[in-house]
Amino acid sequence: NGLIACFGEMLIDFVPTVSGVSLAEAPGFLKAPGGAPANVAIAVTRLGGNSAFIGKLGDDEFGHMLAGILKQNKVSVEGVNFDTGARTALAFVTLRSDGEREFMFYRNPSADMLLTPEELNLDLIKSAKVFHYGSISLIVEPCRSAHLKAMEVAKAAGTLLSFDVNLREPLWPSKKEAKEKILSIWDYADIIKVSDVELEFLTGSNKIDDETALSLWRPTIKLLLVTLGKDGCNYYAKNFKGHVDSFHVDAVDTTGAGDSFVGALLTKLVEDESILEDEEKLKKVLRFACACGAITTTNKGVIPNLPTEDQALALMKTI
Ligand code: ATP
Repeated sequence: NGLIACFGEMLIDFVPTVSGVSLAEAPGFLKAPGGAPANVAIAVTRLGGNSAFIGKLGDDEFGHMLAGILKQNKVSVEGVNFDTGARTALAFVTLRSDGEREFMFYRNPSADMLLTPEELNLDLIKSAKVFHYGSISLIVEPCRSAHLKAMEVAKAAGTLLSFDVNLREPLWPSKKEAKEKILSIWDYADIIKVSDVELEFLTGSNKIDDETALSLWRPTIKLLLVTLGKDGCNYYAKNFKGHVDSFHVDAVDTTGAGDSFVGALLTKLVEDESILEDEEKLKKVLRFACACGAITTTNKGVIPNLPTEDQALALMKTI
């Protein structure tokens, strides 16, 4: 199977042991390994695909724990570096009783931000069929330069580039810089996924419709996706556009639904690249990706709730 190389951050979310409290009120926290690109890499192997994670962890107990989780999940760690000076990134996350998510990041700087262009495993990147990334790795140097170099190397090797914007506003110095830096790499990607919230952030329009989405279209793009949470997703390709519904589930924690969705899409893409030109095939794959996203919301945490192919097919049969 073609390799899906996922570039960026892997970290530990600390989530309160009880729901609906502020970070200050939380009586205790549980470790929930995450980081969108790492989640995608594991989503791929869970579905039987082949993936690698590329990034930097702290040379500490948490960093080695995370590398162990990648290995247990059959994700290649050939592109993982360890920093002896900086710690593995941590984030404290809570869903307060008012429904708002509260984040507190420990990245001052964390190891993931210190990956240098020289540390990249270029052979691994060149051997990939898909190179996938988000925007957190674009925020600060030297990781930003490593990200840009990795994209250039992948592009030159004929690899498909996949970009899930995955905006984390509090990590950027300003909204303006976030928007500029995210859009500065817009022309590289073959596949771009934004959520409805990110679409509004990037376009300034609160109308989640075709016109707004297509204002982000470029001739370089092969597939643009706008995910809509429980309402599924809209897709835009060169010769067609449309909508796919998701599946009804009792959502408990929507964290990582997008990563599960993207992992499923990329797994199917490396099996058959013609989905980018064939609308019927694409719709089937997006339904499958929606099922994967939906399943991931049904329990707390991300990695334990990334589905197998059989679990996704079982949900699809219930409809
Ligand atoms: P995150 O950043 O939390 O990983 P996201 O905002 O990138 O997620 P979403 O739009 O929340 O992405 O979810 C991706 C896909 O997962 C949706 O397109 C949908 O198919 C599925 N999904 C998400 N939430 C639900 C839900 N509550 N019920 C059913 N399907 C869902």
